[in-house]
Amino acid sequence: MDMKKLPIAAAALLLASTPAFADWGELLNKASGAINTYGQQATDVVSEKTVDEERQIGSEWAATLLGAAPLWANDKAQRYVNDVGLWLALHSERPELAWRFGVLDSPNVNAFATPGGYVFVTRGLLARMRNEAELAGVLAHEIAHVVEKHHLDAVRKAQGIGLGAGLLKQFAIKDKGNATVNERLLGGVKEVMSRGLDKGDEYEADRMGVVIATRAGYDPYGLPAVLQTLQALNAQDSTLALMFATHPEPGARLDALEKAMGTTLEAYAAQPQLQARFQKTVGKP
Ligand SMILES: [Zn+2]
Repeated sequence: MDMKKLPIAAAALLLASTPAFADWGELLNKASGAINTYGQQATDVVSEKTVDEERQIGSEWAATLLGAAPLWANDKAQRYVNDVGLWLALHSERPELAWRFGVLDSPNVNAFATPGGYVFVTRGLLARMRNEAELAGVLAHEIAHVVEKHHLDAVRKAQGIGLGAGLLKQFAIKDKGNATVNERLLGGVKEVMSRGLDKGDEYEADRMGVVIATRAGYDPYGLPAVLQTLQALNAQDSTLALMFATHPEPGARLDALEKAMGTTLEAYAAQPQLQARFQKTVGKP
């Protein structure tokens, strides 16, 4: 990644040996108790050896998304969103994943992630954003879903697969030719795509997303700003239908974030929003 392209504050945070991060341990524990049990979860659900398989599930899932809406034919915007996403992912609890970020050519307002590190934002949502900190907030929310394996949990639940059963064994990735097995995965994916994740997982991703974006050097209020924009849109607008059907309403998410953030992150509010760079690359809202 080109350091010159990175936000100055972000690069400074990366280079300094981050004494300020001492506070983040506590903040992260508050933001997500699950992080403490991550090691245990990894053993129970997807052992580290099976990260490749997690990614295989994710890539099949991503392919179904791309079948519905291809990538936006705008190389500059794609590269930019991928750079911002990779920078954020480096500040997540799973920096080692082979993360990929892309913009879907859809007028709908939405963002998605799939297991293993695939993250997509729609052209429609990008068009509602004003600066890079807002983009970072949205991408970091999706990164949090991947870090916490929310989608894998949701597919398991949708297919009635217990924790002990082992999701990957059930989908028998090695027998990929077996249509029944693939249909089971696809069925779970479709259900999760139309119904969305648990509300609790969405709130958790909001809290973790704000933390990741802040660690990466951005103004922490990027995600809340996007939620405010969404709140102000007409809920009857058809481009919002899927997002509103699959997420708690923006007002409730803002309330929950406000409660969780309190004044903890105000000290970081002067971190950059990078409006000029965003609008030069993506366009003005
Ligand atoms: Zn979400």
